[in-house]
Amino acid sequence: MTQAVLILIKPDGLKKSLTGNILTRLSETKLEIVAAKMVRVSQALAEEHYKQLKDKPFFPELIGYIRGELHDRKKVMALVYWGKDAIKKCRELAGATNPEEAESTSIRGSYGRITTSGVYENVIHVSSNESEAEREIKLWFQPEEIIVNLFSVKSEIEKECKKVTWA
Ligand code: UDP
Ligand code: MG
Repeated sequence: MTQAVLILIKPDGLKKSLTGNILTRLSETKLEIVAAKMVRVSQALAEEHYKQLKDKPFFPELIGYIRGELHDRKKVMALVYWGKDAIKKCRELAGATNPEEAESTSIRGSYGRITTSGVYENVIHVSSNESEAEREIKLWFQPEEIIVNLFSVKSEIEKECKKVTWA
């Protein structure tokens, strides 16, 4: 089954200079990267991304974590991987959510940690199923930023919309 999956290299992954390692590990999947960018994560984007967890006690700290407030790195790297069984392959490489329970050779097992306040700093986000992947990819990317047609699109004319371009 051909699938798309959203991957985020979280602020701890960036701060620990793990971008290259993580991308190398993900290349073992032989999946195709169809979108990639650096993103400064707004409060609204962070809350929408993790909306299923909004009632958890760790939610405020999780939002601070993904926004880079714990690591002085106010950005994440967002990518879309695409190909056969993309979600299962990437989740397997990432390892369990809790880095102490993750297999020690997995990405989270190798590089994750639990903070003294209990948040799992696990260096990478991977969508957990197809409907979450679609919701998350549409949240983080616009259609023109993805080099394949993943989901249906609509066209509309924007009126008097200010746009910044190169001078
Ligand atoms: N998280 C946490 N403590 C928990 C569960 C989750 O700190 O008990 C954090 C962790 O960073 C995790 C994120 O919240 O990656 C999203 O949680 P989810 O259950 O969706 O796990 P994931 O899909 O990332 O494996
Ligand atoms: Mg999840």
